[in-house]
Amino acid sequence: MSLDDFERYPLLFGPSPVHPLDRLSEHLGGARIWAKREDCNSGLAFGGNKTRKLEYLVPDALAQGADTLVTIGGVQSNHTRQVAAVAARAGLKAVLVQESWVDWPDAVNDKVGNILLSRIMGADVRLVQAGFGIGFKESWQQALEDVRAAGGTPYAIPAGASDHRLGGLGFAGWAYEVRRQEAELGVFFDTIVVCSVTGSTHAGMIAGFAGQDRPRRVIGIDASAKIDETRAQVEKIARNTAELIGLGRELRDDEITVLEGWAGDLYGIPVPSTLDAIRLTGRLEGVILDPVYEGKSMAGLIDLVRDGDIPRDSNVLYAHLGGQPALNAYSGVFR
Ligand SMILES: *Cc1c(COP(=O)(O)O)cnc(C)c1O
Repeated sequence: MSLDDFERYPLLFGPSPVHPLDRLSEHLGGARIWAKREDCNSGLAFGGNKTRKLEYLVPDALAQGADTLVTIGGVQSNHTRQVAAVAARAGLKAVLVQESWVDWPDAVNDKVGNILLSRIMGADVRLVQAGFGIGFKESWQQALEDVRAAGGTPYAIPAGASDHRLGGLGFAGWAYEVRRQEAELGVFFDTIVVCSVTGSTHAGMIAGFAGQDRPRRVIGIDASAKIDETRAQVEKIARNTAELIGLGRELRDDEITVLEGWAGDLYGIPVPSTLDAIRLTGRLEGVILDPVYEGKSMAGLIDLVRDGDIPRDSNVLYAHLGGQPALNAYSGVFR
C-alpha cells in the first residue's frame, strides 16, 4: 500500500504556497524562516488544515452512502467550520456539535467567526455544555442517533478529523508535496514547525517524511496544554498512518517530538508570548495568526530560533494551518 492507493476528493486549490518570511528571519537574527500556507489552501470558507485531511475522508463517507457529516469541536472550532464547507461542496448535510471547550467571556464568542460561517453554509449547529476533550462524546453520539432516527445516514468525523483511520493521510501527502516544492525552489527544509492539538496534522507529517531519504526535524508545538495526551495521540496516529502508507518499518521514538511551553495553562486562551508572536508576525510580515493555535506555535518557533536550538544555518518551514476566523471572538485582547 502507498498513499496513492487511497482515493482523494479534491478540495484544495493544489499545492499550498511556500514563501520566505524575510523580515521575521532578519529580526530574529537566526535561521531562515519560510511559511507553507494551509490558510490559503482552498476556496472553501478560508480553508485550513482540516480541509486537507478531509480530502481522504469524503470518499469514505460517499462510499458508505452517507448523507450527513457529523462532527464535534469547540464553539469557535475551525474544524467544524471546514466540515460545514466540505459538506456544502460535496452536496451533503452537516451536523456540528459545538462544546464549550474554552471559557472565554467574549460577548460574541458564539455568534461571530467560525460559527457564523458554519451557519451561513447551512450546517445544523448545536451548542452544548461540555468541556475540552478530544475523545468521543455523548453529545456526539446523540447527534449521530438523531440523524439515523430521521432516516439519514451519518458519517462520524471525530474532533479535528484526527482519531480516524484516514486522519493522517492528508498531511502524509503534505510531506511529499513539500519535497516536490523543495526541488522547485532549490531549498531543503531541515526543520518543520507545526502546531499540534488533536494530532493528525503533525502525525501525518511524521509518517510522510519518515519515508524520505534525507532526515529532518518535525517539531510539534503543543497548544492543548495537555502535553501527555497530545504526545500519545500524535504517536498513535503517526504509527497507524506509517503502516497505512506502507512505510515498511516502525517509527523511532526520536522521530516523534512534541514540545510544551507555549500553550499556557489552558487550550484556547492566549498567553503573553502568543500575543507577542501574533503582533510580531503581523507587523513584520502582514501575516495573520490566531490566538488558539498558530500564535502559540509561532511563539515556539521564535524562542527556538532565538535560543539557537534551531541553528543559524537552518531553513525552517513554519506550517501555517489557518484559523484566522476565530480572531473575531478575541477582539478584546487587541484593543
Ligand atoms: C486544528 C488546528 C490545529 C491543530 O491541528 P491538529 O491536527 O488538531 O493537531 C492547528 N492550527 C489550526 C488553525 C487548527 O485549526
